[in-house]
Amino acid sequence: MTRLLFREDAYAKTCSATVTAISERGVELDQTVFYPTAGGQSGDIGTLTMANGTALPVATTVKDRETGRTLHIIAEDHPLPTIGDSVTAELDWDNRHKLMRFHTCLHLLCAVIEGDVTGGNIAAHKARLDFNLPDAVLDKDEISDKLNALIERNADVYDGEITVAELKANPELVRTMSVQPPMDGHSIRTVTIEGIDFQPCGGTHVQKTGEIGKVMVSKIEKKGRQNRRINIVFAD
Ligand SMILES: [Zn+2]
Repeated sequence: MTRLLFREDAYAKTCSATVTAISERGVELDQTVFYPTAGGQSGDIGTLTMANGTALPVATTVKDRETGRTLHIIAEDHPLPTIGDSVTAELDWDNRHKLMRFHTCLHLLCAVIEGDVTGGNIAAHKARLDFNLPDAVLDKDEISDKLNALIERNADVYDGEITVAELKANPELVRTMSVQPPMDGHSIRTVTIEGIDFQPCGGTHVQKTGEIGKVMVSKIEKKGRQNRRINIVFAD
């Protein structure tokens, strides 16, 4: 299996790696900095540069549904490397950093809004969470202000671990039932925002809430009878 370097350091932008398998247009590496689509966070884009200097664009990164393996999807009309090739994997860092800023911001949103999370998505240009809030009256500006106050607090963000048994005994820790953390291993990664939020989460996060920058709620949509979708964009 691929060593997932983003678990050890979300700020790792590049690594050298060896191609270990190829399927369709998906390239597997012995180690990678590329985060695959999971938990609502979009898969990373970037390049795999071969020893001869040819840069292969990575259109997205996915987790194979059956095997759980991390696949770098090479853009069409580009050659595929060969098993055993050495490559340099480099993220489109601007894109990934936006995903990290949004992901941490959505955890802040969980602290601001009461209600179960029923869905979510994080792209580089906008992020959203859906809450089960049948009767709530939600105000865009009020939510924006609360989020920006938490961002300005510049709270520390750090990971930890809990065991699967602990999590199963405390199901209320999982706010996002639709995007459950992977329960396959012995332990599950957690993300703490000091004094604000604690959740199991396998995503990539910024180290301080101030790094998110100013955000605003762009719109709140009614999705069905119970769901309220809160969309967030960067204010700049
Ligand atoms: Zn998360």
